[in-house]
Amino acid sequence: MTTPAPGLSASTRVAAVIGHPVRHSLSPAIFNAAFAAVGLDWAYLAFDVAEGHGGDAVRASRILGIDGLSVTMPHKAAAAAAVDQASDRALALDAVNCVSRRGDRLVGDNTDGPGFVASLRLDGGFDPQGTRCLVLGAGGAARAIVLALAEAGASEIVVVNRTEATAHVAVALAPGIARIGVSGDASHADLVVNATSIGMAHPDDPERARSLPIDAAHLGAGQVVADIVYHPLRTALLDAAASRGATVVEGLGMLVHQAALAFTIWTGEPAPLELMWAAARRNLPT
Ligand code: NAP
Repeated sequence: MTTPAPGLSASTRVAAVIGHPVRHSLSPAIFNAAFAAVGLDWAYLAFDVAEGHGGDAVRASRILGIDGLSVTMPHKAAAAAAVDQASDRALALDAVNCVSRRGDRLVGDNTDGPGFVASLRLDGGFDPQGTRCLVLGAGGAARAIVLALAEAGASEIVVVNRTEATAHVAVALAPGIARIGVSGDASHADLVVNATSIGMAHPDDPERARSLPIDAAHLGAGQVVADIVYHPLRTALLDAAASRGATVVEGLGMLVHQAALAFTIWTGEPAPLELMWAAARRNLPT
């Protein structure tokens, strides 16, 4: 007979992440550290849910009584369609990354953009209010960032993306503030954000982690350069930007801060940020 893990019982409240792939996720380590630190009888699991089944998984969470659900790639749009109610931000992005159960109702939100802005403010000392920003990329994360920078009062947001049609979708989230631009526009930006997957480590191709999403000649002192890629933690872009005198913000902060926001949405408690940071750093892939 096996002994149950200390603290787990029939009344333990359950939170989880759904995604595919999800085995690399840092979220169980981050949230379980936070629940333990605050003394909450909650546990956080990871479910690998195949593409096309995200909506079913969200609906199942209602039946199973899961109180908090994180949603990651590729299920954010399916989750937006499956919840009973979504925040204005989640509706604008057509993407939900955080589901809460309120009685019988599932409420969807998107904490990616606010998590990014919290990281800029708290980790980089940068307030977007009145600043000129340049976002590289126009995928799901880039769109969340464009919307959050506009909400935070950015005066200009330039979107640079390989595929122009997607860039138009991102720009439409911040009318009158965002426009499509080119890499060279970065020379005039206060903030440059890499929200593409360029620079991410790949097990079969070490060269990939050395690629830059922009010519570093456009970056320099007086700028903040943020990368949302966090594997490696210090990307080639951040190294190049720091060597040219820019202030850099690592991508792990966005992950930790969006988790902190979800923690508070689910539990009503302030998030133990330092412990969440430590758990994230401890569990980073080598
Ligand atoms: P996505 O929706 O697939 O978007 C990928 C973006 O990268 C698109 O703009 C795509 O351009 C661009 N891109 C990819 N390969 C490229 C290449 N070779 N050349 C030029 N552009 C390229 O993915 P996502 O969800 O936005 O995620 C983007 C990255 O952010 C991933 O690395 C992800 O792990 C990371 N992320 C981090 C956090 C965090 O908390 N730190 C949160 C979310 C995501 P096209 O439109 O032209 O294809």
